[in-house]
Amino acid sequence: MLIKRREFLRVTSLLSLSTLIDSTIAGGLAKTERMPALFIGHGSPLNAIAENQHTLAWRSLASKVTRPTAILAISAHWQSRNGSFLTSNPQQQIIYDMYGFPEALYDVKYPVKGFPGFKQEMLSEGLQQGIGTTVDWGLDHGSWSVLVHMYPEADIPVVQLSINADLSPMQHLNLAKEISALRNRGVLILGSGNLVHNLRLRKQEATAFDWAEEFDQIIARKVLQGNFDDVANYQSLGQLASLAHPTNEHFLPLLYVLGVATRGDALSWHNATFYRGSISMRCLLVS
Ligand code: ZN
Repeated sequence: MLIKRREFLRVTSLLSLSTLIDSTIAGGLAKTERMPALFIGHGSPLNAIAENQHTLAWRSLASKVTRPTAILAISAHWQSRNGSFLTSNPQQQIIYDMYGFPEALYDVKYPVKGFPGFKQEMLSEGLQQGIGTTVDWGLDHGSWSVLVHMYPEADIPVVQLSINADLSPMQHLNLAKEISALRNRGVLILGSGNLVHNLRLRKQEATAFDWAEEFDQIIARKVLQGNFDDVANYQSLGQLASLAHPTNEHFLPLLYVLGVATRGDALSWHNATFYRGSISMRCLLVS
């Protein structure tokens, strides 16, 4: 089933969600070598149908990662209230949650399976927090515009986890720590947002604004230093933070990727470029 673009809801409220009892897991996820985790700077939805330096970087990153058994995507474009939610559809649906783009973008298909028993996997691997499930969401463009490049065969089940808008950045980081062990079960944790994201101030040229570059580099450095609490406290950067993220939904997926990192992981930035001056396209590989 396709959700048409007009039916898109940016913030999903509890009232519009149906919390379902998960169906029985068929066998569960087997133990694997520890999977990497990825944060992708997704930028324009048009990247879904483009071949450019960004999409080539995404493909290259996918080639560096062991093939996952399942993907848990955290996209900037699904915020919820009154809890965090997992998609639980057996077959994922694509959500065309963008407006005014060429028709070719709305023709993109990504017929991938979901994973109805994923909540149980999270609970058995250490998730302490309450979490709901819903069939009222699918894959929004923060996920599918990236996945069509990374895994074009659409043959790896994908589940999306909502961003609970009631949580602080630090609470998001802590929630992610609880699901870090999923990396030992073949799950690729995939955060999709942007390290700098200010649409209102975007310009024609790619060259970064000074403030955008400064914020980008400060956060990139803190990540490599392992100062994840500082990253979660990015709002302490004051006006710089407000300029980089007038709203925080594109920043928060990064915290999920940092939260599942553990001592001994190698962290590397890729595609450290800007789009239209105010959107950082940086990607982070945790491996
Ligand atoms: Zn976005």
